[in-house]
Amino acid sequence: MRYDLIVIGAGPGGYVAAIKAAQLGMRVALVEGNRVGGTCLNRGCIPTKALLHSAETVRKIKNASTEGIHIKELQINMEEVYEKKNKVVGNLVQGIEGLVKANNIELIFGAAKIIKPGVIEIAGTIYETKKIMIATGSKPALPPIPGSDLQGVVTSNEILTEAKNYESLIIIGGGVIGVEFATIFNALGCAVTIIETADTLLPNFDKEIAKKLAMTLKKQGIKIATKSIVTNISEEQQLTCTYTSNGKENVITGDAVLIATGRKANFEGLFTSELAIKIEDQTIWVDENFETSVKGIYAIGDVASQGTQLAHLASAQGVNAILKMNQQPIEYNLEIIPSCVYTTPEIASIGMTEAKAKELDIPVKIGKYNMAGNGKTMIAGTTLGFIKVIAESESGKIIGAQLMCDRATDMISEFTTAIVNGLSIHEVTSIVHPHPTYNEGVGEAYENLLGLGIHTI
Ligand code: FAD
Repeated sequence: MRYDLIVIGAGPGGYVAAIKAAQLGMRVALVEGNRVGGTCLNRGCIPTKALLHSAETVRKIKNASTEGIHIKELQINMEEVYEKKNKVVGNLVQGIEGLVKANNIELIFGAAKIIKPGVIEIAGTIYETKKIMIATGSKPALPPIPGSDLQGVVTSNEILTEAKNYESLIIIGGGVIGVEFATIFNALGCAVTIIETADTLLPNFDKEIAKKLAMTLKKQGIKIATKSIVTNISEEQQLTCTYTSNGKENVITGDAVLIATGRKANFEGLFTSELAIKIEDQTIWVDENFETSVKGIYAIGDVASQGTQLAHLASAQGVNAILKMNQQPIEYNLEIIPSCVYTTPEIASIGMTEAKAKELDIPVKIGKYNMAGNGKTMIAGTTLGFIKVIAESESGKIIGAQLMCDRATDMISEFTTAIVNGLSIHEVTSIVHPHPTYNEGVGEAYENLLGLGIHTI
């Protein structure tokens, strides 16, 4: 048999798993139906963050006069903004291809189909392998709203592909993807409205964060309708969304409608129903070894049943699955996974929230620091924000943190380190943070757990 393992899908789950397997001496092939890097690199994490960076540049230019820098004219060339994003993506794609080659992994382009355990077909050619790993990711889930197929109604895939100067954009869905696109297009000069079914934006996040985010986005000029359901999209001179809010019917028009209502596991046509791969909640069921209900076939990342849809989780699952396959100790703690939202300011969350602790009746201590008092934050002129850390009262162990401030997505890792290593309040308060940094706020939040923050009243 030519291969020990064939990985299907070269996203952050698949290509990372393939490299780990090759490092452990397995003979590996990696199959990709599109471009290496998957959703994350080509249609997700990286392109959105590249556009968010451009949006942030615009925001900084617009605010420059507050520090004595006066810019006469601001011109945004969308084509060039997208070109820069494409260049970053292209470079990273090349980087992954280089890594795959350097690890002697055979990269095969084409759509793979699993015929039976150990047998795969790609464009009429049969490949045999000892093990198969499915890492085929996810795709936008479209709600059954009449008019969703009209021209100008797009998903994250299309909006990231075509550079367009929208004057107005309606976003259906106020989750992570929805609020990130709202941040991008609002900063780039487009009138944005978010329509969300739940009673807050980011319904899976800490309530305080959701409330503060809504306030911030509104201040930035974004319109938000929560507890609202879009019932129809039609096309008159512009696209028109009809939605009900508190039993009342409303109408809103825009140049484009972005559907950001979640993503579904991508395994359509990957195997026939004769292959008894168990499906659970529309994802591929896997056990604690990431093995599906069919022996020798594994699944990780967005397509699999364990955890949320995050690139870093897909990669970590890929590595752990390969280690388990090779009877090696696992590397990653998959229980403690940070979630980040790249709005302005950024949001990051890990572990227990105050509300969840209350719900579970776990006595906790809360340490909070208002970033308005942080020197770096004041210099940047973005004073709205906070860092909140949660410790278990009885053991003193750090069990959660939520941040909404500049650099929240970088700082969350300090809390991840504390939680994964079971650090207690006294251990984390012994850490000296350099001055002046955003991270000083982390130290202040820790100190506040003891009620002793130097810079908190
Ligand atoms: P994917 O990245 O989806 O890769 C699957 C690959 O499999 C694809 O390349 C596909 O072409 C290939 N494939 C599918 N079927 C076949 C087949 N039959 N044969 C061969 N190849 C096949 N996550 C974060 O952690 N941080 C972020 O900031 C973030 N931002 C996001 C922004 C957007 C707009 C979107 C849409 C997602 C974002 N995500 C983010 C989520 C992240 O992209 C996914 O969680 C991640 O890509 C999942 O990785 P994966 O390897 O499981 O699958």
